[in-house]
Amino acid sequence: MHYLNRTFSDLVHMFSVGKSYEGRPLYVLKLGKRSRPYKKAVWIDCGIHAREWIGPAFCQWFVKEALQTYQTDPDMRKMLTQLYFYIMPVFNVDGYSFSWTNDRFWRKTRSKNTRFHCHGVDANRNWKVKWCDEGASLHPCDDTYCGPFPESEPEVKAVAHFLRKHRKQIKAYLSFHAYAQMLLYPYSYKYATIPNFNCVESAAYNAVNALQSAYGVRYRYGPASSTLYVSSGSSMDWAYKNGIPYAFAFELRDTGHFGFLLPEMLIKPTCTETMLAVKNITLHLLKKCN
Ligand SMILES: [Zn+2]
Repeated sequence: MHYLNRTFSDLVHMFSVGKSYEGRPLYVLKLGKRSRPYKKAVWIDCGIHAREWIGPAFCQWFVKEALQTYQTDPDMRKMLTQLYFYIMPVFNVDGYSFSWTNDRFWRKTRSKNTRFHCHGVDANRNWKVKWCDEGASLHPCDDTYCGPFPESEPEVKAVAHFLRKHRKQIKAYLSFHAYAQMLLYPYSYKYATIPNFNCVESAAYNAVNALQSAYGVRYRYGPASSTLYVSSGSSMDWAYKNGIPYAFAFELRDTGHFGFLLPEMLIKPTCTETMLAVKNITLHLLKKCN
């Protein structure tokens, strides 16, 4: 990130939105041509869950690909000219580090609890939207622990603050998880149809078809509640409820054969196909949908 920030200073701007529980900077890369004063933006985060390593790999891939193809690919040029991308490669940076050093299957943040010996909160159950209702746990030792209160985690608080501040500008929120091979949109916390269902559904339909065109990998898509499971306090629902009209969560490869331990040789094809879906959604944003 530091290297890109130095080398592509006309297209990349790196900044931090805050600090993690353990004091690591929460870096975001702003990508795009500074071509006009007001531009719409797309937010992308990866690695809310520590063990889902293909997420951060994709975020890095996205940045590399965008910068490498900007000159030659008209679609990419259009995207970076007409939009900004805010990319957070590792949301849960403490948990991610812990999954490398101590526990490969760690999911949560690393905050300490005063009454229990268990560490961490599920950073995707800690948002102020139907907080700690169905699909979240009140017990600090559970993997889906919602935390002592909404935005208790400094990582969630920092990103929520940034998104609130830029809610007018940001038109799409994309969050990258693994694994399931699904493209999910709101709601997570209830079985109901979102107001702009037609636009979101057609964006999802086109995105999964674009993804499949690379290697034939088929993604299921639909509302998170009925396609995956009901969960409350998720970042996607929060983003949608806070006025971001296109909110998606990707569950990348695979469907469970390797699961979180997706082998190295599958990183590149997974990123390549996912890129097609993200480009498709982004270009959809630039068209009018009613
Ligand atoms: Zn996840």
